[in-house]
Amino acid sequence: MKSKSLLVSGGAGFIGANFIEYFIEKHKEIKLVNVDKLTYAGDLNNLNGIHNSNYTFIEGDICNRKLLHDLFTEHQFDGVIHFAAESHVDNSIKSPGAFIETNITGTFNLIDVARNFWMDAPNQYKNGFEHARFHHISTDEVYGTLGETGLFTEKTPYAPNSPYSASKASSDFIVRSYFHTYGMNVVTTNCSNNYGPKQHNEKLIPTIIKKAISGEQIPIYGNGLNVRDWLYVLDHCKGIETVFSKGKTGETYNIGGKNERNNLYIVNTICSILDNVLPGKEPYNKQISFVDDRAGHDFRYAIDASKIETELGWKADENFETGIKKTVTWYLNKYKKQ
Ligand code: NAD
Repeated sequence: MKSKSLLVSGGAGFIGANFIEYFIEKHKEIKLVNVDKLTYAGDLNNLNGIHNSNYTFIEGDICNRKLLHDLFTEHQFDGVIHFAAESHVDNSIKSPGAFIETNITGTFNLIDVARNFWMDAPNQYKNGFEHARFHHISTDEVYGTLGETGLFTEKTPYAPNSPYSASKASSDFIVRSYFHTYGMNVVTTNCSNNYGPKQHNEKLIPTIIKKAISGEQIPIYGNGLNVRDWLYVLDHCKGIETVFSKGKTGETYNIGGKNERNNLYIVNTICSILDNVLPGKEPYNKQISFVDDRAGHDFRYAIDASKIETELGWKADENFETGIKKTVTWYLNKYKKQ
């Protein structure tokens, strides 16, 4: 790892916190600053396990350019891994404004401050920053939706369908343009749906577990047949580390677990794990309740991850069945304490 001083944005959220916990253990010599606005989605409890003198938390907004500039000056970052985003599609349908602000303007601020700090002119890095790299974390939702067959590759044309995915697509294009215009050392990863510890209660899998054990109805959109390609969050973190350290400048890499499952399968699998570990009077799947579908709900996402697998040697360690057991155990522990 060439970086000595790393800025992570959005590290109090689900994936960022898992990433910091994993990365800091492996790279104890790297200074790591986590800047996070602590929106409703950020939770400092996600970082309770980190006791490392090289780690610093800063509460701050990536839309605040002066703050970013001051942080670069103070910490002399030579790497950025950019997670911060508004990330929940349902919220983007109700209130798209914050998505445009953080995901587009925030990404622009962050990459532009990094460019000014690292570069004197297009294709000209300042002394000591020749290796500096900006890693943008994005989603497979930028590619739109698939029918029953086919996979998203890095060459699939962008066709975002929600305000969330449109804002992420815009941010991907900004990052792309900094490579083509300024010769900036950038990489982008587009990954599929993550699951695992530390995810916000509002997301599908934590909601299923929480509602099931509290005896409430478990809401499933539409007919439950929407398909996602589920990726265990630790596998994603390992993929990010791989691309940040070995990815080719200017390239994008899709990260996916080759674990396509529909929502009905997800909810039934979780219910049957709960039936075993925490049996109730009736099977938990009796609580499943179908609710009106999400507006513009994409039918299917699935990722072809062969580029990162063959070029960089990454491969998901978990399949859905192994990852979901660990995940249910983690949430049962969390909800027992509440
Ligand atoms: P999350 O919502 O759990 O966390 C986002 C974090 O960003 C929060 O801690 C929040 O406080 C912070 N944040 C929001 N606005 C900010 C701002 N203006 N300034 C600073 N911090 C701010 O999201 P996540 O699930 O961890 O996703 C992380 C990244 O991965 C996002 O860019 C998301 O688009 C992408 N992604 C997520 C998934 C998934 O399944 N969760 C899939 C593909 C891509």
